[in-house]
Amino acid sequence: MKNRIFNIIFLGHQGSGKGTQAELLGKKLNLPILAMGDFFRREISVGTEIGKMAEIINNRGELMPDNITNKIVAGELAKKEYKNGIILDGFPRNLIQAKALEEALKTTLAILVNISDKESITRISGRRTCPACGMVYHIKYNPPVRENICDRCSEKLIIRADDTEEAIKRRLEIYHEETEPMIYYYKQRGLLLEVNGEQPIEKVHEEIIKKLNIAH
Ligand code: AMP
Repeated sequence: MKNRIFNIIFLGHQGSGKGTQAELLGKKLNLPILAMGDFFRREISVGTEIGKMAEIINNRGELMPDNITNKIVAGELAKKEYKNGIILDGFPRNLIQAKALEEALKTTLAILVNISDKESITRISGRRTCPACGMVYHIKYNPPVRENICDRCSEKLIIRADDTEEAIKRRLEIYHEETEPMIYYYKQRGLLLEVNGEQPIEKVHEEIIKKLNIAH
């Protein structure tokens, strides 16, 4: 599985917009995206064994066990749709996962979408999500055209179960304890590209494109 063309990881705080940036870059580079949070939310909605476990863990703002997550990712990476490259959103999230990923594929680049804790809390507490298509809005910064209704599929928007105050606090703790050391891991390897996530969506995208040295 080594030596793929473009294997990009998106890192960042909760609410940094890394999912949105992953989508934009995926379109630009024509790369498929594997978003771990979306994977677990799908499992939850279907009610599988993994989903039942993920629901409890997710609502507490905790991470799924590494052995389970790593196994799922290894299975996904073996699919042929990812053979010409991939954008990973939400994986890896700690050093154990980063090392497991290293075994499976050669990382081209880790893009860190940087925002502060304060900004993360502000964004997540106003976040609304479409349960049908996964579109993400913010009540103040990026509201839907019709209040609380998804622009794309007209579904009623929800507040994610892990976007409660308690869960947000726990997720931030985990980010500092587990995810930040992993960022250093990529920095040491010369693979880290940092962008300022506290700008409008388009500006962040432009900064990524510019730093990646790709024409518009
Ligand atoms: P996200 O949408 O990326 O914030 O992920 C939502 C939830 O899915 C997390 O709070 C975790 O419970 C679970 N999850 C997502 N990615 C991972 C991962 N790499 N390792 C363990 N659990 C994860």
